[in-house]
Amino acid sequence: MRLVLLGAPGAGKGTQAKKLIEKYAIPQISTGDLLRAAVSAGTPLGKEAKSYMDKGELVPDKVVLGMVEERLKKDDCKKGYILDGFPRNTVQAEALDKMLTSLKMPLDSALSVDVPFEDLMKRLTGRRTCKACGQMFNVYFNAPKKEGKCDKCNGDLFQRDDDKEATIKKRLEVYNSQTAPLMDYYKKKGILKAVAGVGSIDAIFDKVCAALGGK
Ligand code: AMP
Repeated sequence: MRLVLLGAPGAGKGTQAKKLIEKYAIPQISTGDLLRAAVSAGTPLGKEAKSYMDKGELVPDKVVLGMVEERLKKDDCKKGYILDGFPRNTVQAEALDKMLTSLKMPLDSALSVDVPFEDLMKRLTGRRTCKACGQMFNVYFNAPKKEGKCDKCNGDLFQRDDDKEATIKKRLEVYNSQTAPLMDYYKKKGILKAVAGVGSIDAIFDKVCAALGGK
């Protein structure tokens, strides 16, 4: 399966991607995760990316495209891949098409996870991530049993810098103006599928699998 996951920040793309990788045994390529890893490692790329990420703006296309191409060339992508958080604008989508054509691994589907705007704010401001294992919680919908601690490994939970309210507003604006137009882009190509991203994680996953044809 070769898939692009579309949807606003907070739509639950990452959560669904994690379930898809288990089911299909293919890698998830999250540009947000790759960029955060570069920021933590303090690489030159990470230093450049951080200033954009903290403001809720998109990191320059050139930086992201290089990173994705390098990742797609790895052997584990030969049996398929799930792109999560990429592409984020038309320039990236067009560059991705070219890249995938030359790598002979074109997309099967673009799946959009749709969530009403009002729900996104709560999901994002409530999000907490475990420093040790990456497990995510939400103080409104899926609170950890012990405040500030991970249920799985007892690691410390933190709020991502870009999950603060002002940055979230900017991220949602950027999504509406730059990323939402990709729905049309993939619709025209005839590969767009959509599911409502509301309800339990498992119920959404059932809809995701049905939309992907249960393959
Ligand atoms: P995410 O975790 O996907 O919401 O990404 C967090 C931040 O990383 C975004 O707000 C952007 O600053 C940056 N980012 C992630 N993916 C991309 C991308 N494909 N293009 C540009 N910037 C990105």
